[in-house]
Amino acid sequence: MEIQSRNFWNPVLETLDRERLVELELKNFRKYMAYAKKNSLLYQKKLKGIDPKQIQTKKDLLKLPLTDKEDLRLAQISEDPTIYGDLLGIDPVYISDFRQTSGTTGKPVYVPESYESWQWRVEVWCHILWMAGFRETDRVFIPFGYNVYVAFWEGHYAAQKIGCEVVPGGALDTKGRLNKIREIKATALLNTPTYGLHMAQVAKKMGITAKDLGIKRMQCAGEPLPQATRKMLEKNWNAEVYDHIGGTEPCAWAAMCSDRNGLHIMEPFFLVEILDMETRTREVEEGELGVAVVTPLGRHSFPLVRFNTNDVVRKSKSGCSCGRTSMKISGVEGRMDDLTKIRGVLFTPVAVEEVLRKRFPVIIEYEIIVQKKGIMDEINLRLEPEQELGLEKQRELESKVREKLKMRTNLRFNIQFEKPGVLPRYTLKSKRFKDLRGL
Ligand SMILES: [Zn+2]
Repeated sequence: MEIQSRNFWNPVLETLDRERLVELELKNFRKYMAYAKKNSLLYQKKLKGIDPKQIQTKKDLLKLPLTDKEDLRLAQISEDPTIYGDLLGIDPVYISDFRQTSGTTGKPVYVPESYESWQWRVEVWCHILWMAGFRETDRVFIPFGYNVYVAFWEGHYAAQKIGCEVVPGGALDTKGRLNKIREIKATALLNTPTYGLHMAQVAKKMGITAKDLGIKRMQCAGEPLPQATRKMLEKNWNAEVYDHIGGTEPCAWAAMCSDRNGLHIMEPFFLVEILDMETRTREVEEGELGVAVVTPLGRHSFPLVRFNTNDVVRKSKSGCSCGRTSMKISGVEGRMDDLTKIRGVLFTPVAVEEVLRKRFPVIIEYEIIVQKKGIMDEINLRLEPEQELGLEKQRELESKVREKLKMRTNLRFNIQFEKPGVLPRYTLKSKRFKDLRGL
């Protein structure tokens, strides 16, 4: 029993039966909704005339409006001297931390944290790291300067709360970071998938193998992590690599357990709905794709009710060998902002990443550019191999890549090879998909 409970950060919450879990979430939702209506100008307007008592089942949630990223941007354009506009849910005197969104999809949103709201985020992250096997014996290296971006701060404080030893790796270049990992014998990393692969490449050039550095586990953040990329990272680092899904606004709301097969929704901290992508008026069934709508039930400094994450995930069968009872989903299979029609075919860039990482490890960077040629959409794929290939090898690879992509996406790609080192390298957020058709 002793050993078993060590598997969980909170054995009671993580194994609560489903019925109790949903009941608890709905109860907390009503409380949270009342709080948001009372304390946030955004929700005073948005939820006007709706009584929290009307929400008795998950289906009842569908009566409430969604909150889009754009709603948050608009709510922050105001003369408010606090800079947070209509989003603030507390007296500004209690704000203890400033964060902001990355602005990948538009103007960044400023996010205020009170000490209490921040501790709630840290507690969620303790669950995530514990689930990924982080323990008090780990020395965790974080190879970034985190600036105002939230995920690595959350990981930093949560690792500390678990009892790990945390080493911030900002203000070093990649070589310096690799040397540091070796020098201090780090055992775990918080990383972005792209940077994890890049570090392994740089290590090779330095004459060391990432595999030999003694990293046992890596928690990824910042980007979707297709299964093929995750496996590639595991191979490169000889480590267990874990995925999670989250965002600056709602916090991290799903994460991988030791099974490394799908992700658990972080119940009961979040009430998550996976909705039909077209209509958003019904929850999808097991096995179906849908868009995740998330209510973080403990975010008081910045209340968010039914936040539309735009993350497309697949609802999985419930139940898991790890013993957790929370709902399971796939990793992010696409983003509604990236999901686009090309020549009438629904396309998501994650599909290209999946194919390249799984089948063609010799390709280390890529970029997809969609543009109009006359009235036709055209997809150009720039590929960067690990080292220069001869013309013949290049042609052979080109036709294989084109064929596999055609099978996966039903689309034809124009392929162009670049010299090693030409394509941009990303650390915190990659931008490998460019849709120039609207320009
Ligand atoms: Zn599990």
